[in-house]
Amino acid sequence: METKTVGILGGGQLGRMIVEAASRLNIRTVILEKGTDSPAKQINSSRDHIDGSFNDKDAILQLARKCDILTVEIEHVDVEALKFAQKETGVAVYPSPETIAIIKDKYLQKLHLLSNNISVAESIDVESTQEALQSVGALYGYPYMLKSRTMAYDGRGNYVVKDASHIPEALTVLNDRPLYAEKWAPFTKELAVMVLRSVDGRVYSYPTVETVHRNNICHTVYAPARVNDTVQQHAQFLAENAVASFPGAGIFGVEMFLLPDNKLVVNEIAPRPHNSGHYTIDACVTSQFEAHIRAITGLPMPKNLTCFSTPSTNAIMLNVLGASVPNEEVYMCTRALQTPHASVYLYGKSTRPGRKLGHINIVSQSMDDCERRLSFIEGKTTALQQ
Ligand code: ATP
Ligand code: MG
Ligand code: MG
Repeated sequence: METKTVGILGGGQLGRMIVEAASRLNIRTVILEKGTDSPAKQINSSRDHIDGSFNDKDAILQLARKCDILTVEIEHVDVEALKFAQKETGVAVYPSPETIAIIKDKYLQKLHLLSNNISVAESIDVESTQEALQSVGALYGYPYMLKSRTMAYDGRGNYVVKDASHIPEALTVLNDRPLYAEKWAPFTKELAVMVLRSVDGRVYSYPTVETVHRNNICHTVYAPARVNDTVQQHAQFLAENAVASFPGAGIFGVEMFLLPDNKLVVNEIAPRPHNSGHYTIDACVTSQFEAHIRAITGLPMPKNLTCFSTPSTNAIMLNVLGASVPNEEVYMCTRALQTPHASVYLYGKSTRPGRKLGHINIVSQSMDDCERRLSFIEGKTTALQQ
């Protein structure tokens, strides 16, 4: 159907799921990733893949020469190299390099959102010194969150400064990283919304979901979020406005905190498919991955694209993380395969404790029923009444 070739910077699980969605539409994809056997390359037979870094200028240029459109599955890419490749070859880049540059620095991202009147978790630029961190304590009180501005994921780059005595350790843990500090957000829930932005700047939001983290890593996602309609709609509105403020097209994941007074603030934005949007594969009209491909290639995006498949759809997504006993996570996947209305997605990665190896989607007509199935899959109940 399409003759365009899409180059993807990064070949992890998000790249793999973009490849799957693109191939159903006959859209060719080419991967730039160091690993020769990365999750995205495994399922995409092509001689054109490049074994190189998404931070290597020459490798990015080489990729651009083979493609009509470049996209990313990770924001930690070399933006100047992307701009150079765009100028040299005329390749389209979505999300736009300007957007990636702002988002990949979490503090610049906050400043950008603030200047666009989007509520964010209160934060301040900080130098890596004992005195500077003490002044933040005096300003925000304890605990507060110290964060790396760049290269952060799964909470690696965050340090909770419980009191002044923890400052030396905070400086050691986040040594050599540009920092900023955030006021502690006493959230009652973490919410997230996937937002699609078309080339002509229209935005479409997916339903509001609730993310539950364990040890800073997403454990489960409840779709829709277990909050009232007003909060759900407010979250979608905030997420749409946040994404509308960034140039370029594609899918974005917007993470938010719901505060005790029901106020919502943005935590951070990802300019790419997001873990909190994996439920869309089974629960929505169009998955976040297909939606991304359609947005960046200019394919049609009808009105209901981002809705639940049916008005009564409920879903839970459970991440498959590497168990402390190698491969023990496989038992959970086997139980999921025994469970009606559960689908298992594995990413072709080797096991390591805490590593994201796959996810399981459970879809049903009620959240209670999804929870019952989840409980069996997690081994908390021994039998599932069907
Ligand atoms: P991701 O994998 O989502 O990119 P990350 O490394 O960029 O993660 P954040 O999203 O900034 O990290 O924070 C990780 C988690 O830490 C949040 O989901 C939330 O549970 C908690 N957290 C972050 N900021 C704050 C804050 N200001 N107050 C309280 N908790 C916070
Ligand atoms: Mg992040
Ligand atoms: Mg986050």
